[in-house]
Amino acid sequence: MKIYISADMEGVTGVTHPQDVIPGRSQYERFRGLLTADVNAAIEGAAQAGAAEFLVNEAHDGMRNILLEDLDPRAEVIVGQRKPLSMMQGFEGSDLIFFVGYHARAGTEGVLSHTFESPTVVTGAWLNGEPCSEARMNATLAGLKGIPVGLVTGDDLACAEAEALYAGVQTARVKTAIDRYTARCLSRQAAHERIREAALRAAGKENLSPYAPEPPYSFTIEFATASSAASVLFFQGLERVDDRSVSWTHEDYETAFKMFIGVMRLSRSDPDYG
Ligand SMILES: [Zn+2]
Repeated sequence: MKIYISADMEGVTGVTHPQDVIPGRSQYERFRGLLTADVNAAIEGAAQAGAAEFLVNEAHDGMRNILLEDLDPRAEVIVGQRKPLSMMQGFEGSDLIFFVGYHARAGTEGVLSHTFESPTVVTGAWLNGEPCSEARMNATLAGLKGIPVGLVTGDDLACAEAEALYAGVQTARVKTAIDRYTARCLSRQAAHERIREAALRAAGKENLSPYAPEPPYSFTIEFATASSAASVLFFQGLERVDDRSVSWTHEDYETAFKMFIGVMRLSRSDPDYG
């Protein structure tokens, strides 16, 4: 069994603050270690269930966070940001998807909640009219290729969303959000035990059904500023819905998803003036 692990950082054990997850900030180096250890705990659990191949994809910020020297030697890791499928690069051909260190969507009270960009850039994303997290967007990509999500680790909101959407998914709640910058956290040891056990159950489970909503696929993004919406009007089929929102629809999900990634990249080119 091949396990694909998309590893974000806001949902990692103990993370509660931007200081913990932004490269160069005071606590970042500490939490890189905890991220790597969360990933290793998931690998350990799945390996105990018989999984033999592990591909980890870095999925946070510049996508250069995991400490390679401490990564479980059974895994390989995709490092770097220039990836057409972004947080899901390389998932094809795997049997089961794990989301480690995932977080709640923009506009919610989850720890460091956002959707792809800071809420100062993107205030919300919708898929077919429903509010959409990074996890849901990524789960849809895999689900439509027949690959289910087996495990989600993160705060209570990230885990609750997964349980509501992906039939049979296992979750490991490593903290409970009090607000976006505050959480009640498990110790490292307790969190890793919980992740390992959830991964063991996930990899041992048969007949999970992939998350595969019906076409067509319509994305809407709401930006914090009208100028961000204006800066992404370069794609065929993309419409400006109102001053701060753009939308597009496609029969093929991967095409619609790649357009989302492109729109996100362009939106970063907006000059920063609030
Ligand atoms: Zn994220």
